Amino acid sequence: MKILNFGSINIDYVYGVPHFVKPAETIASTSYQVFMGGKGCNQSVALAKAGVQVYHAGAIGEDGIWIKNQLNDWGVNVDFLTISDGPTGHAIIQVEPSGQNAIIIHGGSNQAIHSFHIHDVLQHFEKGDILLVQNEINALPELLLAASERGLKIFFNPAPMTPSVFELPLETIDVFIINEVEGEELTNRNTAEGILQKMAEQFPNAATLLTLGEKGARYQHASEIRSINAKKVKAIDTTAAGDTFIGYFLANWALGETLDTCLQKATQASAICVTRAGGAVSIPSKEEVM
Ligand code: ADP
Repeated sequence: MKILNFGSINIDYVYGVPHFVKPAETIASTSYQVFMGGKGCNQSVALAKAGVQVYHAGAIGEDGIWIKNQLNDWGVNVDFLTISDGPTGHAIIQVEPSGQNAIIIHGGSNQAIHSFHIHDVLQHFEKGDILLVQNEINALPELLLAASERGLKIFFNPAPMTPSVFELPLETIDVFIINEVEGEELTNRNTAEGILQKMAEQFPNAATLLTLGEKGARYQHASEIRSINAKKVKAIDTTAAGDTFIGYFLANWALGETLDTCLQKATQASAICVTRAGGAVSIPSKEEVM
């Protein structure tokens, strides 16, 4: 069983600023850092660190080649990552001394995925293989339909949630992986029970994995229901917590572990992630996840 993650890659440009730039103002930054990110990228890193082979498909510009190299170093297969014209998807992030941020996202190559690239990649995968997708690339309808036609099992993390998600062929999805915000927007319910109940009504054939931050996570597929508490830790930065959870859950699932083990490993890994600063770098290795 092969795992294909067709997802986004972003470069995060982070500027420390005394205050957010006002209209017509120019200010100097007090610090500057560059990180790799994007939900797709982080989820591939989590899968690789959890000990499974993951193929990351998508697109970057020439300015993102260092990320391709870093992913390769972390054990992610990047054979299906293409280099497109134009810039890699990126975020310009201003951070005030209080820690509050203001962000501009430019989709770049994440929004320039070509139809032929999708079909080219999918021909290397077959019935029973897994496709993981988030909501940060273009051409999702085509990708979902083509993957479903080939018999791939589709895990969809509709993040960041946008109204366009409702226009996707959601009947192709086997497992929805959502946090509380995405769950509320998908179902118009505001409790975990309400969200899961509505998901089961709307998508009776699909499973839902609902993460609830420090309240843990729930899994539901027809009459099969599981609940797990989060670990009590001192969280300092929750960036990539959800991505770590998804990567570890899916990796253990692909390794044939029980549902309870998948949830336990994902919970332990994401608890470690939140105790560390940063995105992909804060995702623990499988040796750290007991
Ligand atoms: P997202 O990052 O997508 O918003 P969540 O906030 O639901 O996702 O977090 C995903 C998982 O990470 C949770 O189910 C939980 O296991 C873990 N987690 C998140 N925040 C904390 C926390 N403060 N303490 C311990 N674990 C956490």
